[in-house]
Amino acid sequence: MKKHLPFFAIFFFVSTTWAQSDIQKQVKSDSYYKEKLSDEQYRVTRKHDTERAFTGKYWNSKTEGIYTCVGCDLELFDSKTKFKSGTGWPSYYTYIDNHVEKSTDQRFGMSRDEVHCARCNAHLGHVFDDGPQPTGLRYCINSASLDFKPR
Ligand SMILES: [Zn+2]
Repeated sequence: MKKHLPFFAIFFFVSTTWAQSDIQKQVKSDSYYKEKLSDEQYRVTRKHDTERAFTGKYWNSKTEGIYTCVGCDLELFDSKTKFKSGTGWPSYYTYIDNHVEKSTDQRFGMSRDEVHCARCNAHLGHVFDDGPQPTGLRYCINSASLDFKPR
């Protein structure tokens, strides 16, 4: 007797694929970003550099609005979730929707959670677990990775 193909296995595979992020990735060449961004924005977002504390545009900003990605304009952080961290970098306790992704950064002999834009992969900063409620998280972000749209 002939055996049938296990179709249920195919359906299972398809349904697990659907569970992934619905953000369409933006894939551009290195020279596209070099041209679009300032030197500092390029170094931070594409080469994982960190701006010096208290030097960025937004660490002390209290204006109401939305912080967007310098690489692709995706909305990343709301000023409502920004808080005074005393670190010299803009700090938020959460991000907008599923627009920020996390990976592990092993550089400098430390293991830290690096965060980047879900659409263009721009490096934004790091996330630490010493933030305020309701999340207890601190997204420590480079101003150079951000643009701002006032409300
Ligand atoms: Zn982006």
